[in-house]
Amino acid sequence: MTSPATTLDRGEFKNEPVRDFSKPENRAAMEQTLKKVAAELGREYPLIIGGEKIFTKEKTQSTNPSHPNQVVGIFQKGTVELANQAIEAADKAFAHWKIVPAAKRVWYCFEVAEILRRRRFEMNAWLCYETGKTWTEADADTAELIDFCEFYAREMLRLAGPQKLVPNAGEKNHLVYIPLGVGVVIPPWNFAAAIMGGMTLAAIVTGNTVVVKPSSDSPTVAAFFMEILNEAGVPKGVVNFFTGPGSTAGEALVSHPKTRFIAFTGSMQAGLRIGEIAAKKQPGQIWIKRTVLEMGGKDAIIVDEEADLDSAAEGVAQSAFGYQGQKCSACSRAIVSEKIYDKFIEKLIPRVKAMKVGPAEDGNNFMGPVINKSAMKTILEYIEAGKKEGRLLTGGGAKGTDGYFIEPTVIADIKPNAKIAQEEIFGPVLAVMPAKDFDHALEIANGTEYGLTGAVYSKNPKKLERATEEFHVGNLYLNRKCTGAKVGVHPFGGFNMSGTDSKAGGQDYLLLFLQAKVIAENLAAK
Ligand code: NDP
Repeated sequence: MTSPATTLDRGEFKNEPVRDFSKPENRAAMEQTLKKVAAELGREYPLIIGGEKIFTKEKTQSTNPSHPNQVVGIFQKGTVELANQAIEAADKAFAHWKIVPAAKRVWYCFEVAEILRRRRFEMNAWLCYETGKTWTEADADTAELIDFCEFYAREMLRLAGPQKLVPNAGEKNHLVYIPLGVGVVIPPWNFAAAIMGGMTLAAIVTGNTVVVKPSSDSPTVAAFFMEILNEAGVPKGVVNFFTGPGSTAGEALVSHPKTRFIAFTGSMQAGLRIGEIAAKKQPGQIWIKRTVLEMGGKDAIIVDEEADLDSAAEGVAQSAFGYQGQKCSACSRAIVSEKIYDKFIEKLIPRVKAMKVGPAEDGNNFMGPVINKSAMKTILEYIEAGKKEGRLLTGGGAKGTDGYFIEPTVIADIKPNAKIAQEEIFGPVLAVMPAKDFDHALEIANGTEYGLTGAVYSKNPKKLERATEEFHVGNLYLNRKCTGAKVGVHPFGGFNMSGTDSKAGGQDYLLLFLQAKVIAENLAAK
């Protein structure tokens, strides 16, 4: 049921606070909801195309990375034919949705935020079970999605209002932002709620319709979000839900001539492939497809000799191992001044050794599993390569027998051109690299093909100024960790092979889903 209490007048945007799980009432709520959601594991979910539920012969399933034998959800294996049908359904819905007043679309966004607040622990539980997020990480993901609802809704109200133009005598001129058309939303699994929902809401609040193709590792979180959109009353066909392999069904969605834009977040390889397919004009296609492609990272934290080493060690540990190093913003390189190299390591290692690794649903663990078997294999291969390239300080292998657990791993004395210093590992592996001086540290930091996040710990304002000028990343942090960007506060997106710098959660973001139409009227003709 929709709540009539949801109004458009909600005051200034404020970030949704994250839950403190040291409080008994929050722990109890999370434990209870985990039990409730456990009873719903293993359900089957249809494709939703134009509001119709569609089942296919072939199925796929998503499993719990903490307990791989546990099935989280069973899904339809969408075919190319059904992908085409989904785009047609979104195109049909666009004819109606594009004329729904912006205020009404904004209202839906606020309503989704309200429902998410009410069902927050359920979303947290699905994130724990399906993506191996610990309680705090899951709650931060849900809170970020609530922020996207609240932030983009307000942004749309701003963009729907009068836009400033230079006056021209004898003419009445105005500029309006109109939607693009049908979009394909392709999110990753690592912020299965926030990124999936954020890209979807940005697209629909601006008047577009979409086909959402969630990651094959996190379709249940997306199915739960669909349930919330339905509860909020979002009309049929505005958001279509399509599961299936990215390499076939995903490509069919991207290449369809009626697809007007693609909002993608994921690996560099998939992003580049999507960019390539989208650039090719298909028979019957009458526009250049717009692509928002947010991709990987090889993020670094520079620790200068003039830094507070306790705070730097804490920041590096948190950034490297929060959510098992599976954040695009995760620190995978600590570039440390030779002058304090050993001292920094002494402070870092006990922090890493103290991190508890285990099933994500156990609220006492700091780290859960990595996402799937193939990720585990790749990460362990990187660790083996790293052991040859440097000196293993802690971790170095799998942990336990059940679940995809990997020890938080730190490898020191890594050279700038080493494999583990250049390639995105996307797991709990930190390379520690010595730097001769600050120039050298900046050179190493900028020496990969990526440019997503970075941080510098130093008390020297001149060095911080230099980093501001020369550290070439989309999100630079000074004397703090390089993860944990907040909606509205730290608009997020990277340079170089990290993507198109779309700055999700910022004032420019919705413009990527809109086109501007200018109407100039000659008043003398009246
Ligand atoms: P992938 O690139 O493997 O997958 C992302 C999405 O793309 C999935 O839905 C996937 O579907 C789909 N996909 C894959 N290949 C194609 C294709 N050829 N055509 C259409 N769709 C396709 O990334 P991950 O899900 O593993 O996510 C991790 C990556 O995301 C990391 O590189 C990380 O850095 C990056 N990331 C970047 C962020 C940023 O803001 N820059 C934020 C978060 C993550 P399927 O699962 O079915 O293959």
